[in-house]
Amino acid sequence: MISTNIDYDRPGAQFGTLRLPNSVHRSAYGHIAIPVAVFVNGSGPTVLLTGGVHGDEYEGPVALSRLAREIDVADVNGRIIILPTLNHPAFVAGTRTSPTDGINLNRTFPGKQDGTATEMIAHYVTTELLPRTDCLIDLHAGGSSLQYMPALLAPRWSDPDKTARTEALVAAFAAENVIYFDSVRALSGEDRVLGNYANRHNVDFLTGEFGGGSTVNVAGLAVAERGVRGVLAHLGILPTRLPPAGPVRRLVMDDPGLFAFADRRGYFEPKFVLGQSLEAGALAGLIHDIDIPWADPVPVHFRAGGVAMCIRTYSLVEAGDCLGHLATVLPT
Ligand SMILES: [Zn+2]
Repeated sequence: MISTNIDYDRPGAQFGTLRLPNSVHRSAYGHIAIPVAVFVNGSGPTVLLTGGVHGDEYEGPVALSRLAREIDVADVNGRIIILPTLNHPAFVAGTRTSPTDGINLNRTFPGKQDGTATEMIAHYVTTELLPRTDCLIDLHAGGSSLQYMPALLAPRWSDPDKTARTEALVAAFAAENVIYFDSVRALSGEDRVLGNYANRHNVDFLTGEFGGGSTVNVAGLAVAERGVRGVLAHLGILPTRLPPAGPVRRLVMDDPGLFAFADRRGYFEPKFVLGQSLEAGALAGLIHDIDIPWADPVPVHFRAGGVAMCIRTYSLVEAGDCLGHLATVLPT
């Protein structure tokens, strides 16, 4: 149902919108305008760059809108499609999920042509953008409720060709922290995620968590900006002189014991900081009783050991809230 004033095949730079039908009381013939920029020149590959899949993450939108302002299409060999705020209704509201339907875009793929606003966005990505794309970089952060150590997330494959292509992209991105993960499933196990449909369309895929906490992580933004430029240079789409890559720390988060969850409501006092190395069984923090301040707080532990990559920002917790997680460092 989404139309656009962009022609994906027309050479040159175009700044336009995806038009999501939105006939409402204050706007009878209106649409939600999702910003999109496209740069076409020469015969190189197509890269799709997305931010704002979750509307309360800002490093991606900052990085991608700046890139779009800076690209000289004469330098491009191939096609660059940039959507800094893919879930634009959620971005306008500053929320992870869309205010139009309450849905999380990254649990909605492949979407639905005649579905809700978020389902239509997912459907457009699946049917119009992924078939045109060779490589997708989807920039994320922890959003309002989580803060991340900036980290690239790279898929793990059993196929050696895919592994080699991914490793070349990881090297080009040059992030200090690389978490290898199962890109076809969310941490919860469900597979309605963008990475799954990128894979089904044979699109090379990188994502990452570059900060969070409803703000812009300055260090994470720099990692993301350098990384996207590095991949564009690696694919021969945009020539850029980049600083040499530093040492890389490779991590995985396979063990459920790396995650700490609240088992009751209360307010959380963390006992770790991002980047800290913790042993298995280490104290993650204390959950204090809201109504009885002198009640002994309840400890929460990490059952497995690793480096702290993620911490909850909101102190108030309910049973089931993620308090943070660690990742295990792979031997070099
Ligand atoms: Zn996100």
